[in-house]
Amino acid sequence: MLFRKDAYIAGAWVSGKRRFRVDDPATGETIAEVPDLGAAETEAAIAAAHEAFPAWAGELAETRSALLMRWHDALMARADDVATLMTRECGKPLAESKGEVAYAASFLKWFAEEGRRAYGRTIPTTVSSRRYVVTRAPIGVAAAITPWNFPAAMIARKAGPALAAGCTLVVKPPHQTSLTALALMQLAEEAGLPQGVMNMVTTSDAQAVGAALCDSERVRKLSFTGSTAVGKSLAALSAGTMKRVSMELGGNAPALVFADCDLDVAVREVAIAKFRNSGQTCVCVNRVLVEDSIHDAFVEAFSAHVAAMKVGPGLEDGVQIGPLIDDKAMEKVTRLVQSAKDAGAQVVVGGEKHSAGARFYQPTVISGVSQDMAIAQEEIFGPVAPIIRFRDEAEALALANATPYGLAAYAFTQSLARAWRVSEKLAFGMVSLNDGILSTAVAPFGGVKDSGLGREGGGEGLDEYLDVKFTSFGGI
Ligand code: NAP
Repeated sequence: MLFRKDAYIAGAWVSGKRRFRVDDPATGETIAEVPDLGAAETEAAIAAAHEAFPAWAGELAETRSALLMRWHDALMARADDVATLMTRECGKPLAESKGEVAYAASFLKWFAEEGRRAYGRTIPTTVSSRRYVVTRAPIGVAAAITPWNFPAAMIARKAGPALAAGCTLVVKPPHQTSLTALALMQLAEEAGLPQGVMNMVTTSDAQAVGAALCDSERVRKLSFTGSTAVGKSLAALSAGTMKRVSMELGGNAPALVFADCDLDVAVREVAIAKFRNSGQTCVCVNRVLVEDSIHDAFVEAFSAHVAAMKVGPGLEDGVQIGPLIDDKAMEKVTRLVQSAKDAGAQVVVGGEKHSAGARFYQPTVISGVSQDMAIAQEEIFGPVAPIIRFRDEAEALALANATPYGLAAYAFTQSLARAWRVSEKLAFGMVSLNDGILSTAVAPFGGVKDSGLGREGGGEGLDEYLDVKFTSFGGI
């Protein structure tokens, strides 16, 4: 039952007239065909969510919380099956897919709890006959557009707070990973989701569905995760209906490796932050900045670590690096590595396509990179670590901040004073010190500058789906 191949609108599975293929990026093989829906079906999904809104918003927070907990439990009970499906369609190693399912479920649990604490407040009055009260109410119908690189977590990170707050939802999943999205939908239905509260529109025409969501007066909130270019165009489209937007966009994360770090920790954690999901995450290290005096020692140890990584299909035992998502991703990685070589950088490890198949790239380390090279400016989205040398803290910070992006940054130092200074001066929404993983449901995730607007997770994640209302009680 988890292997659903239909979309979900108004509490019913919808097969549509046309279908598109979902492929396994490791082999190119077709896994299934799913409905290729358009603007008309999107309108139907919006109408269903609109109709379901008053009753859902009027439920007790406790009732919504209980549903989210049942969804969480159902997802955890089927974690291995969902993870296998995820690896088949997005290629990430099975261990990572299992980690992502648990991470996705953690958002359902966190927001099941947070939804019960959507408190308002009172304000001391300025007129003796009045009393001031601030309440928070669900925004209305929300739309979620999500990317393929976290097929389950990016849906849960939006659906959790939206449903907990009392919003109803229309989800447009990415075409490459529609099956994981539909499995989540199936589990939500099993958990007892009322008709119309959450709808899922699969499509190969993202532009048509995206435009229908942005143009609709009834959709009061758009939460988008994906590339900066698409995010900007959707934010512009959403301005027409003045809907609230959250934008979780691209990154260009630096990892600053200072001479006073624990070298073993830095090597291990930079590798984790760089090579997770074959380098295809928004918080992936995109540039490794290393202080002069430990540069050679770091490059040697890091390269040895990277050279030992196992590449292959994600379902194979012990694999750490799976395929890239599609041919376009392969072309981008190949182009960026070639342009770095042409500009004088040196490939220390890898630097070529991998023999495992058409979409596999060797885990790669490139030294002698400078900030002006394309590989240091564009989001690589592949298993390639460019290394840039720096003289001192001031230069490291200047290099780190020399990007229009501002999502995540990493720094490695054992000096408490430096850790504070660097964390304050990095122009990023998130900073991770001496650790390669920073995502958690309990803290706000999001970026500044071209990396987006708004936060997901933490208490802030719920705020994104609530409107603030001020009521003044007069004549008292
Ligand atoms: P993308 O091309 O922007 O796609 C993201 C989503 O938007 C997909 O569902 C896609 O649908 C849809 N889409 C594409 N063009 C659209 C349009 N014109 N109108 C409406 N929807 C449209 O990004 P991606 O390449 O899949 O994902 C990778 C990007 O996401 C990277 O830049 C990464 O950094 C970013 N990301 C950010 C975060 C974060 O939290 N900040 C997390 C994960 C990923 P189709 O797939 O069906 O085309």
